[in-house]
Amino acid sequence: MKSNQGILDYFHILEKNSSSAASYLFIGRDFTLLDDILKVISCENDSYFCSSCWDCKMIEAHNHPDLFCVEPQGLNTRIDKIREAIHFLYLKSFRLKKKIVILKDGNSLSPAAANAFLKTLEEPPGNSFIAICVSKLEGILPTIISRCRKIFLPFNAGENALCNFDIVAEFLKGGRIVFKDRVKFSSFLWTLIMFLHNDLLFKTTGRGSSIFAEDKQGLFFNFYDAERIHNALNDVLKIYSVYKSININLALNLIRLKLN
Ligand SMILES: [Zn+2]
Repeated sequence: MKSNQGILDYFHILEKNSSSAASYLFIGRDFTLLDDILKVISCENDSYFCSSCWDCKMIEAHNHPDLFCVEPQGLNTRIDKIREAIHFLYLKSFRLKKKIVILKDGNSLSPAAANAFLKTLEEPPGNSFIAICVSKLEGILPTIISRCRKIFLPFNAGENALCNFDIVAEFLKGGRIVFKDRVKFSSFLWTLIMFLHNDLLFKTTGRGSSIFAEDKQGLFFNFYDAERIHNALNDVLKIYSVYKSININLALNLIRLKLN
């Protein structure tokens, strides 16, 4: 719950400062938080959202005229649906300040559909809010990953167990670490991504996420500004996307270079 609050705070603050991005990649298994995020950026009534105004109710019902949801048909999200979504973003909005497009399953984008979407992600029409939901980053075009701000939705306990905080802490202190297999290497990368993401949220909202015990983590990237953390996060994500084939030592050196 606490980490959910951190993410809602993040969007609330971005909204207040009119500094939200046009495109977000939501990475997780459970996307129910997204409705609340959409209410935070849409509701006029409350400091957060009211859940009772017309806009909140229509967002909750996925029936708002300024919201367009793209669902996969069968296993694929087809290119004609993506074209409809792009067309929708260019229409004048009815009530909200934003036109919102949700891609419910980014992992189901066909290569042609993903390519059709790239240009819009690069130069979205003003006031777009595009949310792409994915359960994993594997298979997502690196160009899509780099053009979106990443939001990691709260972990469940099983995934959390993958992380080895001590190895990441050792690495960040400059220690030499060795991985015997790629599974451990990928869980190291994922944990590092979580650290960076958590610190990025903290930098923006003043709140950390409950996925980390405060005493173990602290703020590793305390001396970095948000932009530097964001860039480092993008770099580690790029490496994560090729963890199956990259030379592990080379990757570790690259990460050190990016973080120092
Ligand atoms: Zn409302």
